[in-house]
Amino acid sequence: MAARLLDGVAIGNQIRAEVAPAVAAFTARAGRPPGLGIVLVGDNPASEVYVRNKLKSAGETGMFAELIRLPAAASLADLLAVVDRLNTSERHDGILVQSPLPDAMGHDAERRVFDAVSAAKDVDGFHPINVGYLVQNRATLVACTPTGVIEILERSNIKIAGTRAVVIGRSDIVGKPMALLLLHRHATVTIAHSKTADLTKLCAEADILVAAIGRPGFVTKPFVKPGATVIDVGINRLDTRDAVEKMFPGDTARLAAFEKRGSMLVGDVHPNVAEVAGALTPVPGGVGPLTIALLLRNTLRAAQARAGWAG
Ligand code: NAP
Repeated sequence: MAARLLDGVAIGNQIRAEVAPAVAAFTARAGRPPGLGIVLVGDNPASEVYVRNKLKSAGETGMFAELIRLPAAASLADLLAVVDRLNTSERHDGILVQSPLPDAMGHDAERRVFDAVSAAKDVDGFHPINVGYLVQNRATLVACTPTGVIEILERSNIKIAGTRAVVIGRSDIVGKPMALLLLHRHATVTIAHSKTADLTKLCAEADILVAAIGRPGFVTKPFVKPGATVIDVGINRLDTRDAVEKMFPGDTARLAAFEKRGSMLVGDVHPNVAEVAGALTPVPGGVGPLTIALLLRNTLRAAQARAGWAG
C-alpha cells in the first residue's frame, strides 16, 4: 500500500484564494487594507527567509505588511517599545514577533514579548488569553501551524471525530494547541513527549498520528498503524553527507540532491512510512505552506474583529 500524499501547497493556495477577496471587501469597506506588523530582531538567516515569505504573501493577498527591524544588540525594552507602538497603531491589525529572539534578551524574553502583544492583534495565537479561549473552544486567533494541520485533515476528507489521535510533542506553539483542536473535533487524544513510556506501541494505536518533535526521521514504520493518517510537522535541516546516508542508506538520488544543494530539509517522519500509512504529509510541501496561509487568515480575522464585523 502506498500512502496518499496530502498536498499542503494546494490547500495553502486554496486558503489564500479564499482570503484575497475577503481582504478586498474589507479594504473597500474600511478604506484601508488589513495591516500586519512583523518584528525581526537580529539577522538569523532562517528567520530572514521566513519573514520575507510572510511579507511577500501578505502583499500578494492585498494586505498592508510592514517589517520593523531591530539590531541583534537591541534590548528587551527596545522590543517591548516597538510592540507597544504596534498595539496602539490604527494601521496594524496583526503583530508577529519572529522567533527565535537573540539569547542575550534573556531566557524569558519570548514569553514576555508574546504576553505584551495585544490579544486582539495576536495573529500567532500565542497570547494566554487566546490560549484560554482555545481551551474553551471559542477562539478567533489560534496558532497557525496546528490550525493548518486541521485544514489539511478536513479538506482532505479525513475523519477526525471518534478517531484515536496521538500528538508527539507538547510545545505551546504546536503540540498543545494541536491536541486541543483535535479534541474539539471529537478525537480521543493522547499527547506524547520525551518521557512517554512505550511510545512506539502508543503511536501504533493511532488513527491520526501528528509528529511535532524536531528530530529527523524519528517516526518509522513500527510507529504507524497500517492505513493511519500521519502528519509531519517537523522541519529539520540535514547538513552533512553522513546524516543523509544514515537516514537514507543506499539512496543515491537523495544523496545527489544533497550534494547539489549542500543541505536537505526533512521531517520528523521517515518518508518510507508511506509504505504503511494511509495518508501522509510530505516535507517539504505538507504542513509548512499552511502556516503562512493561516497567518494571513488570522490577520484578516483580527482586522474584521477590530472593526466589529463578523467577517
Ligand atoms: P519543541 O518546542 O522543541 O518541542 C518538541 C517536543 O518534542 C517536546 O514536547 C519534546 O518533549 C518532544 N520530544 C523530543 N524528543 C522526543 C522523543 N525522543 N520522544 C518523544 N518526544 C520527544 O518543538 P516545536 O516548536 O513544537 O517544533 C517541533 C517541530 O515542528 C520542529 O521540527 C519545528 O521546526 C517544526 N515546526 C514546524 C512548523 C511549520 O510551519 N511546519 C512550525 C513550528 C514548528 P519534552 O517536552 O518532554 O521535551
